[in-house]
Amino acid sequence: MDEAQCEYFRKKLDSMREDLLSEADRTISEMTDHSSQYPDPTDRASAESDRNFELRIRDRERKLLAKIEQAIERIENESYGVCEECGDDIAIPRMEARPVTTLCIECKTKQEQAEKAQAG
Ligand SMILES: [Zn+2]
Repeated sequence: MDEAQCEYFRKKLDSMREDLLSEADRTISEMTDHSSQYPDPTDRASAESDRNFELRIRDRERKLLAKIEQAIERIENESYGVCEECGDDIAIPRMEARPVTTLCIECKTKQEQAEKAQAG
């Protein structure tokens, strides 16, 4: 991956990160609103389950955010776009579709097959 490509992905990752963070902020302020908004216990229960849903979403966001930050780190230490498993360059279209990926398509496929085999 050359310098221009690194720069491109760095910007892409930065904006993904910004989006996630602003989304998380919004979720938190909505959650804060909920607690005072429903004096009726039934409504409160549904607000609770909404909140569980939001927390699950946030858990997913948090994991993605960690991946984005790791990807930015890899750009900084120049290992971005290199497969963790086999050390080959990951194809640019794959990076484009999934900028946080650490595996080339071959290794990813192998990993998925292994996971499927494990799951039975
Ligand atoms: Zn690989």
